[in-house]
Amino acid sequence: MIDFRSEIEKEKENFINDLATLVSYPSVQDDSTAKENQPFGKANRDVLDAMLSIGQRDGFATAEVDGYAGHIDIGEGEETFGVLGHLDVVPVNDIGWDSNPFVMKRENEILYGRGVVDDKGALLAGYYACKIINKLDLDTRMKMRVIFGCNEELGSKCVKHYFTKMPFPKMGFTPDASFPVVYGEKAMATVNITGSIAKKGLISMFAGKRANIVPEEVIAIVEGSYKNYLKSFNDFLEKNHLDGTCEEEGNHTRLILKGKSAHASLPHEGKNAVSYLALYLVNEIDNELIKLIADNMSDYHGVGLKIAHNGLMGDLTMNLGVIGYKNDQVSLTLDIRASHEIDFAKMSSQIQSVISPYQLQSETATTPGLYVDPQSELITKLHQAYQEVTQTNDQPQTMGGGTYAKSMPNCVAFGVEFDGYDYKIHGNNENIPVDHLMLATEIYCKAIYSLIK
Ligand SMILES: [Zn+2]
Repeated sequence: MIDFRSEIEKEKENFINDLATLVSYPSVQDDSTAKENQPFGKANRDVLDAMLSIGQRDGFATAEVDGYAGHIDIGEGEETFGVLGHLDVVPVNDIGWDSNPFVMKRENEILYGRGVVDDKGALLAGYYACKIINKLDLDTRMKMRVIFGCNEELGSKCVKHYFTKMPFPKMGFTPDASFPVVYGEKAMATVNITGSIAKKGLISMFAGKRANIVPEEVIAIVEGSYKNYLKSFNDFLEKNHLDGTCEEEGNHTRLILKGKSAHASLPHEGKNAVSYLALYLVNEIDNELIKLIADNMSDYHGVGLKIAHNGLMGDLTMNLGVIGYKNDQVSLTLDIRASHEIDFAKMSSQIQSVISPYQLQSETATTPGLYVDPQSELITKLHQAYQEVTQTNDQPQTMGGGTYAKSMPNCVAFGVEFDGYDYKIHGNNENIPVDHLMLATEIYCKAIYSLIK
């Protein structure tokens, strides 16, 4: 039996050092520094170069495509096995982190920092697995290609562009979700709602940066003295176990409500600050926007919008992720995920029928779902490697998050999260135990080897 474990132990400190290097780049997409060969901003270009340097340092051939994505080739073979990860990260909150998110902290053998899991740590687990398989000089028939993009969090334009210039691997996985293995990903719709709603009580309201995150904080300016709101607001916060403040703002009142962020595919794990504020304000002011949100958008299964759906991959989820309201102008973004057989055209027209009475318009962009036969060689071998290493009987699953798996044929999401641990993906204090990374690397070693031997 091949002893991957002891090879992984030998590489452990190198792995952790490389991860600290990648985490040190604040690779949140920044269009203000975008230019040719740097389409997603400077930090994303720099982290791409850093990953390419890791491959070159280890003696492997590398390539990159116009600053969108790059790869490291390991081993030999006509056909290619792909591991697809991403180097961009979601933004960090200014408050709520216990350490600098871009200086990796190692404490009690837990690593903290933005991207230690999603997806820099996961990508390195895939990379080190390929490196170890190569080092052991095992008999393999496929080359391994570790591919990394810089725009996964904002639409995967990186790998879409990359694959216009580079061939698809024969098969592969993306270490950007959960174990044991994901054979289905829900279809997604992003719905932008815009228009004009008269002020009436509400002067402004802002929350959220990304549709795919449950907004943690909302700030609203409402008409009238803070004394009119103070008691009822504090009562509401207490009743719903929320934090917030109610303060004087000129002649008006500034309300800040704090919920809990979560990934949009798991909205029940968060507390949507916008929904809660609307549910409070609907009893305080007579504003149409507040009424629309409270009545139709404050649940996370689309019940209020009458778009609830239950399919092969479970319930539809909905997240009101971004809101901007000022000078009567409204902009709302919904992130909706549903089983792949949903009829999005019908769903869009239903949403439009709810918002039309408010004189609002919607625009819907959709991404199809993904479904790979759970009995296929790819799924069964990935699953088997997971079972062998963990000695558990967890079964393949489906999920609401979309990954790179959709951008390449014969590709599914495989790890890196283990069930039952809160890695705080996309949240404050994102973290992963060193052990989990090492265990994931071992699973990847076994899985890749079983598919390419
Ligand atoms: Zn990710």
